[in-house]
Amino acid sequence: GGTADRLLPLLTAVPDHPVPGVVFRDITPLLGDPGALREAVGALAGLLPAGTDLVAGVEARGFVLGAAVAVAAGAGFVPVRKSGRLPREVLVESYELEYGSAAVEVHADAVPAGSRVVVLDDVLATGGTASAACRLVERAGGEVAAVVVLAEIGGLGGRDALAGRRVEALLTL
Ligand code: IMP
Repeated sequence: GGTADRLLPLLTAVPDHPVPGVVFRDITPLLGDPGALREAVGALAGLLPAGTDLVAGVEARGFVLGAAVAVAAGAGFVPVRKSGRLPREVLVESYELEYGSAAVEVHADAVPAGSRVVVLDDVLATGGTASAACRLVERAGGEVAAVVVLAEIGGLGGRDALAGRRVEALLTL
């Protein structure tokens, strides 16, 4: 079998999390399986466009996968964090959630001008988070080479939210 056959069973569906009606995909079984983790990180690294300088990982599961992928690909790592966590000057991008809004931040000096940056996260759903991360990278002076995710949940508009951007998903749910 292929990568999807091996990895998809390790993304456990959790009904009604965090709220009723939502099926949350839990990637921790995949993270805990040495062979699956190695395969996922290697395959994700293979989805990075040639010449990627930096991987921008979104807190928190985008840190785990993003740092490993950055090492595998010979790129650097930039943390995209939730509000109020980074210690120095930040750029902030807000985005809408189904109920309310959220914001992500990056250090203002984290992306050297013209750097080719891949935004990396575990799951792409509506695309709001990845889209905000892309805007941060661009405001910081970088070029978004691609958005790369472990798994894309189809039917939630993620591709539309990222229209015009290269989007690579290792798995589709
Ligand atoms: P979006 O902004 O709606 O695309 O949601 C993506 C963000 O929410 C990512 O940072 C994911 O880590 C998180 N997320 C949304 N749904 C899931 C899920 O089913 N499993 C794991 N993370 C999820």
